[in-house]
Amino acid sequence: MHVAYIGLGANLGDARAALAAALLALAALPGTRVLRQSSLYRSAPIESSGPDYLNAVAALDTGLGPHELLHALQAIERDHGRERPYRNAPRTLDLDLLLHDSLTLETPELTLPHPRLHQRAFVLLPLAELAPQLQIPGRGRVAELLAQVRDQPIEKVEP
Ligand code: ADP
Ligand code: MG
Repeated sequence: MHVAYIGLGANLGDARAALAAALLALAALPGTRVLRQSSLYRSAPIESSGPDYLNAVAALDTGLGPHELLHALQAIERDHGRERPYRNAPRTLDLDLLLHDSLTLETPELTLPHPRLHQRAFVLLPLAELAPQLQIPGRGRVAELLAQVRDQPIEKVEP
């Protein structure tokens, strides 16, 4: 079994409903359990436009390998009507594979750890809720990386 961290994001339509549905879909993947999920966070789009994003992170216990899991995430995105009209376009649902155990990988399809995870407060803040001491291979500990993006505006959504 592997521990994988998934970054969830949505900024079109009912973003909260999209994230809730995505968590159910993750829990329903073969050989997979949702170990923990973070609070929801709200932030303005980066290098893009449109409504604010809602983001969260989930920790999975899964028998799926990294590519199998990526394809499963992409299938869930498609089920939620994700289109990719242009780079950083607003999206109904974005599921990123942040980490798969401590695997480092660089293929045309999949980079691990996720290449931008260490620069984004909307990933690091929810991730720090689950695993502040986690080492991101090649980057450092989550809590230390978070301290470097403290200038990015983001707020916790009260339940
Ligand atoms: P982003 O999430 O960066 O805004 P997309 O969701 O459109 O952009 O992803 C673009 C491409 O990134 C996908 O086609 C996918 O193959 C690739 N990719 C590379 N590494 C990862 C990863 N760790 N998690 C998710 N997608 C990844
Ligand atoms: Mg993505």
